[in-house]
Amino acid sequence: MDELKTPLQSKLTTVNVIKRDGRIMAFEPEKVAQAIQKAATKTEQDGQEVSDEELQNVLDDILAELTDRFTTNVKIYEIQNIVEHTLLDHHLYSIAQEYIGYRTQRDFARSQATDINFTIKKLLNRDATVVNENANKDSQVFNTQRDLTSGTVAKAIGLKMLPPQVANAHLKGEIHWHDLDYQPYSPMTNCCLIDFKEMLTHGFKIGNAEVEPPHSIQTATAQMAQIIANVASSQYGGCSADRVDELLAPFAERNLAKHEAEAAEWIDEPERRKEYAIKRTKKDIYDAMQALEYEINTLYSSQGQTPFTTLGFGLGTSWIEREIQKSILKIRILGLGKEHRTAIFPKLVFTLKRGLNLAPTDPNYDVKQLALECATKRMYPDILSYDKIVELTGSFKAPMGCRSFLQGWQDENGQEVNSGRMNLGVVTLNLPRIALESKGDQARFWSLLSQRLQVCEEALVFKVNRAKQAHPYNAPILYQYGAFGKRLRKDQSVDELFKNSRATVSLGYIGLYEVGTVFFGPTWEHDPEAKAFTLKVVKALHDHCADWEQEYGYHFSVYSTPSESLTDRFCRLDTKKFGKIKDITDKEYYTNSFHYDVRKNPTPFEKLDFEKDYPQYCSGGFIHYCEYPNLKQNPKALEAVWDYGYDRIGYLGTNTPIDQCFKCGFKGEFVPTAKGFKCPECGNADPASCDVVKRTCGYLGNPNQRPMVHGRHEEIVSRVKHLSFSNNQVANQQRNG
Ligand SMILES: [Zn+2]
Repeated sequence: MDELKTPLQSKLTTVNVIKRDGRIMAFEPEKVAQAIQKAATKTEQDGQEVSDEELQNVLDDILAELTDRFTTNVKIYEIQNIVEHTLLDHHLYSIAQEYIGYRTQRDFARSQATDINFTIKKLLNRDATVVNENANKDSQVFNTQRDLTSGTVAKAIGLKMLPPQVANAHLKGEIHWHDLDYQPYSPMTNCCLIDFKEMLTHGFKIGNAEVEPPHSIQTATAQMAQIIANVASSQYGGCSADRVDELLAPFAERNLAKHEAEAAEWIDEPERRKEYAIKRTKKDIYDAMQALEYEINTLYSSQGQTPFTTLGFGLGTSWIEREIQKSILKIRILGLGKEHRTAIFPKLVFTLKRGLNLAPTDPNYDVKQLALECATKRMYPDILSYDKIVELTGSFKAPMGCRSFLQGWQDENGQEVNSGRMNLGVVTLNLPRIALESKGDQARFWSLLSQRLQVCEEALVFKVNRAKQAHPYNAPILYQYGAFGKRLRKDQSVDELFKNSRATVSLGYIGLYEVGTVFFGPTWEHDPEAKAFTLKVVKALHDHCADWEQEYGYHFSVYSTPSESLTDRFCRLDTKKFGKIKDITDKEYYTNSFHYDVRKNPTPFEKLDFEKDYPQYCSGGFIHYCEYPNLKQNPKALEAVWDYGYDRIGYLGTNTPIDQCFKCGFKGEFVPTAKGFKCPECGNADPASCDVVKRTCGYLGNPNQRPMVHGRHEEIVSRVKHLSFSNNQVANQQRNG
């Protein structure tokens, strides 16, 4: 079918359309043409042909009637009524039926989403899009079911609270309002770096218990676990402990002092005394860190999940700090329980720093070696490059949650502050949708992008304003007992901790690969023009955020959305709208942020070189991954990639097969099936007797225990290894690089 012509009627250029959600947009005759054509294509599939000429007549009649009747504003339903009766006048009954049906369905979907009875029924019927939305939640467990029920209610109510055009854009899949099951229903915050130092130094209160500052590292880590559980129940995103080795060292000093005093009582030789005290302290450190590992993995927040926790470490230089670093890694390498399963939490983030641990001559090089061994066996730690993080984000700190970064910030006394700061939420923009709607017309792409960004602005400002409606007593652990750094009185405004850019709020995006593909074809990664275009897209997001920060006084940051379930949702909705489009919707997932197409196999070095240019514009959240074959015998290959990345990228994760079958003893990569993963040797897929670990978003997950949404499963299955040892890429890179 040819495109219908829409000669712009001169009078219609002054007409605006009033949408259902109250937005006023310029009238676009192309949209009417598209709707008619879509309905005609549908009936054509059912064997009913209509000539292009006839359709063109219908469109001309519609535009003529609009021109006659309207000069300024027209309501959307008035246009739709004219379309309907014109189709009927032309005796095109099945097209009219199709057109009316499509409209009614859209109205249905909109009402259903805000209908609590309907959404609860969907949950009770265990609809996969509801129960598998978050790979970290076990939907069979009572308290998770309770959380899902309350989340379902909160979603339906939240949708009604949102500004109508934001709710509408969310339902249509133009944007995604994250964590709708918590916010705006509740004025919660998203993720944070907990100010453990403040809390452990001054004591805090949880429930009825006043907790005194700890006198040993064991008590300190026990308190940390308590704090994490409580913080995780008071916000909806992840929480992190920054520089945990340096944080805990002063408490281990007290263990050392105790052991020294004890030794003085029983041992005469000073050398032996020291030896004894150090040995005992090392044991205490190991035990404390192991207890923390088990505590975190056995915690259940009120959200019915293990808290999304991240530990950042690696910069300490004293023997105690080094001992803490090594203990964290040794405990992770050992694994959990009798079967030595891979711990999923906490996420470990190890920092590389030139002069500290990067080169063989550096004092902490041995810890880096241990980190490499740990990554080959357990995937974590991910690594931060100290200098690059400072360059990209303005100061050094671990991410909040899996990848959200605070930007450098100083308080009124000129002190740099990281721990105690937070993010107020994320709204993600569906970039592939805009590219598909623009049909490859770049000018149209930019104009649609700027329209959508207005909706994003309204959404993000609403998020901030809603979060400000909390009172300190709603979440005492955060606002009154130090987790957010400053202790507020009950009657103070929580905005004290958000304003002046202390808090961040994030504009997320997804699918830059698909955007490039619409304009430049599926293999655009080496096309400089395509690269420049995609960079310009992310820079446009960055520039808007900078303007909003000026206007509103909060830090708006661009965030490369991890999109655990979003990769599926946006693609599913776009497939409905545009059909299966090769290399875009037919994959059944959208590519994460600025990442290289997961189906291709560049070397890790090529991949990082391609991706390294994006984070300058999305410093609010970013991570790079490389896919490796089994690395256990070859940590040097991984080290080559880490070293190569040091001056190029800030944050790097390792994906390598570490699955284990306890039935037949297989270790390596389980093979994907339609639903989960199975042992390639014996076919075992029972989570009780195997350990399957995949990176589901920024975090690791156990897909056999907790199934993922369809699109994420497809994406993981499509991932191609970036390193093969047959071609000596690593050796060459080490020589050249
Ligand atoms: Zn097996």
